[in-house]
Amino acid sequence: MLKITGIAASAGVAIAPAFKLEHPDYTVKQQHAKDSAAELQRFEEALAASVQELEAIKERTQQELGAKKAEIFESHLLILSDPELLTPVRDKIANELVTAEFALDETAKQFISMFENMKSAYLRERAADMRDVTKRVLTHLLGVKYVNPAEISTEVIVVAEDLTPSDTAQLNRQFVKGFTTNIGGRTSHSAIMARSLEIPAVVGTKDVLSQIESGDLLIVDGLDGEVIINPAPELVAEYEAKRDRHLRQIEEWKKLRDLPTVSRDGVHVELAANIGTPNDVAGVLENGGEGVGLYRTEFLYMGRTELPSEDVQFQAYKTVLEKMEGKPVVVRTLDIGGDKELPYLDLPKEMNPFLGFRAVRLCLDRQDIFRTQLRALLRASVYGNLRIMFPMIATLDEFRQAKALLEEEKAKLVGEGTAVSDSIQLGIMVEIPSTAVLADQFAQEVDFFSIGTNDLIQYTMAADRMNERVSYLYQPYNPAILRLVKMVIDAAHKEGRWVGMCGEMAGDATAIPLLLGLGLDEFSMSATSILPARSQISKLSKAEMEKLAAEALQKRTAQEVVELVQAIKQ
Ligand code: PEP
Ligand code: MG
Repeated sequence: MLKITGIAASAGVAIAPAFKLEHPDYTVKQQHAKDSAAELQRFEEALAASVQELEAIKERTQQELGAKKAEIFESHLLILSDPELLTPVRDKIANELVTAEFALDETAKQFISMFENMKSAYLRERAADMRDVTKRVLTHLLGVKYVNPAEISTEVIVVAEDLTPSDTAQLNRQFVKGFTTNIGGRTSHSAIMARSLEIPAVVGTKDVLSQIESGDLLIVDGLDGEVIINPAPELVAEYEAKRDRHLRQIEEWKKLRDLPTVSRDGVHVELAANIGTPNDVAGVLENGGEGVGLYRTEFLYMGRTELPSEDVQFQAYKTVLEKMEGKPVVVRTLDIGGDKELPYLDLPKEMNPFLGFRAVRLCLDRQDIFRTQLRALLRASVYGNLRIMFPMIATLDEFRQAKALLEEEKAKLVGEGTAVSDSIQLGIMVEIPSTAVLADQFAQEVDFFSIGTNDLIQYTMAADRMNERVSYLYQPYNPAILRLVKMVIDAAHKEGRWVGMCGEMAGDATAIPLLLGLGLDEFSMSATSILPARSQISKLSKAEMEKLAAEALQKRTAQEVVELVQAIKQ
């Protein structure tokens, strides 16, 4: 038995065999071949095996997710039968005495760079398809192993170096009981998604991958951040009991589902949920969410090979608004970049992606993408209580430009005779320190703020939220962060605006007493955190928490703040 500690990223206890998900190395090392006939034979066999795999995946996708989702595999199959690709590969093998993998890799690279330089967006997106298909065939030629997370079909705990948000989105809850990764923090997007999928997870373990073999029995304790490898039966029984206690506690909390969130001294605050897809709305309602405080629309853009059309987006936004039945829904415009990539946009690799060309910066540049989203949102606005929010606003100019584009699209739609709501609130995320510091100026121009502490903390402390080596600096309770939060709340209230928080700090049991005391109006969190937060707030007095927050602001270290909060009776 071995115990590894990491960061508790998603609550719950999972017990199941390990499944290692590793992204193989596709570098082609051998260039020269001795026997071109044998190489040709290898190529044809790899091709046939890939076609067979794709047929099977297409079939399954069609049955489980419908014909539309299966189209991508159809286009992959077409590439694998296209003589424009296959003939040059075969010729190269036959005439140049090179290995099949080298011939394929070289030829595919030429096509990929050709597609990437095309004017048409459609053709540019074919580069991503070509890359995917080449990897599939190379998997066979290089003898490496790769399993798409969507293809897991037995009960397992996934173990990986890291999971991208789109890997996580593909995990099937029925089979994936938990996951653990070497890297990542509580606010990396795979951790956030694990919470919305309600999959227990421990991330940032540094070296869990090298300690585990596929098939090892694992316990992932997402409550205390521990992974236990090959536990003795008595320990398994102990953790089964812990799992059941947690599940019983959840049942207890469920009794608060239809009640408002009121402090012990009668002050109401709003508890909303963060969602990534329309499917998450069911979880919001089950957990008594009073609204959606953050809809991360970028997930609509992931897991596909091209940008979602205006209609695809319209349907998604309309669905969320309708299902929320008039409760407020804050939709955040596209926040791609950082740890959320869109391969089909083929954006250049950056030295510091979290400080780079992301979110509203990209949208103001790629106005085609932004305007499509704004139109879809405006069209959907008549189906519920829509609020729009721009991410990563660093300057007032950015906000004004984004707002002007929204108004242009609105005028166009109205001119075309399309109904648009005239009571859409327009807000920004405060996640860049410059915006927090200038909140008094912003408050005169926006309808609301939502504090994005996941990024605000990383930018204030200069500590990458994904990097477990500097996670000690990622300090939500540092008085510096609390002072920034106070500045934002006070500035907004002075102008009669409301302030929410949609970073993970809003659902954190240690932060909640402080945020209540600082006067936060709306707390937006993973749906599963709502009922525990409601229960906690009902036991706190707002007046007392105001005093607590005032004291916390005068503390010197995060640790002193934690001790102060822990000393109160809850
Ligand atoms: C944040 O930064 O706090 C936030 C909610 O946005 P994201 O986690 O998607 O960057
Ligand atoms: Mg953010």
